Amino acid sequence: MIITVASGKGGTGKTTVAVNLALSIGFTNLLDCDVEEPNVHTLLLPTNLQTSSVTVPTPSVDQGKCTLCGKCAEFCQFNAIFVGKTKTMIYNEMCHSCGGCKLVCPEDAINEVERPIGRIHQSSIGDTRLVYGELSIGEPIATTLIKRVKDQVKPNAINILDAPPGTACPVIETMRDSDYLVLVTEPTPFGLHDLSMAVDVVKELNIPFGVIINRAGIGDEGVTEYCRKNDIQILMEIPFNRTIAELYSRGIPFIQEMPEWRNRFNDLFVRITELVKNGE
Ligand code: SF4
Ligand code: SF4
Repeated sequence: MIITVASGKGGTGKTTVAVNLALSIGFTNLLDCDVEEPNVHTLLLPTNLQTSSVTVPTPSVDQGKCTLCGKCAEFCQFNAIFVGKTKTMIYNEMCHSCGGCKLVCPEDAINEVERPIGRIHQSSIGDTRLVYGELSIGEPIATTLIKRVKDQVKPNAINILDAPPGTACPVIETMRDSDYLVLVTEPTPFGLHDLSMAVDVVKELNIPFGVIINRAGIGDEGVTEYCRKNDIQILMEIPFNRTIAELYSRGIPFIQEMPEWRNRFNDLFVRITELVKNGE
């Protein structure tokens, strides 16, 4: 099973929910897909990291063979190739590694070289297996690394995915193939705005989902009203609570100090399992 925890924007408590849910269930595979700013590990403090480099094939032009015909640049949908008067240049940052330019080059002047774009770390913390990606600084394309993190999904395990914030390509890549989506929001007009955008995306993906309201009590009834009108399940409300906020600021998953919440997250998992089973 794959449960993805997402939110329309950063700072809603999405990572807190993913970590507390994973730890409460136990024996989970927790994947941090927010490769531009991974922070699950800051709550779990893994040791004995196993790290591997992630590379992508990137074209390299043999200028000796290149006749400057321009077919590669014409083909490239991402404007990653510039054919000048004396030289053909590749802009690695814009290349999506589709391999098409190599195929269309009539002179066989394009080779592919492996270029590192980031790293993947793995570790075990108790019965939780953590995997997280770390995109190299300056690399603009996160989706390739997210796919590599998702290669670590275990088919017979409970996989909890922490998605990047927002509603752009990296989030959609993370959500794809999920059995259930948990959208975390805050009960404020900003929270409602971002939640409604996330809901529009999720509906397109046709994946069942529900909402967790974090810091319940700080704002207004807008999110609750929106969920009611749109027949969206509110799975849980986490109150704006001084102890929870303090634990969060100290980097401690709050279920570790507040065991009653471990039971609530376990109940949440049982409920999600039933919803998935019933196709709701
Ligand atoms: S591999 Fe694809 S994206 Fe990259 S430069 Fe070639 S055609 Fe463009
Ligand atoms: S298609 Fe090949 S020969 Fe033509 S400009 Fe590109 S690299 Fe050079």
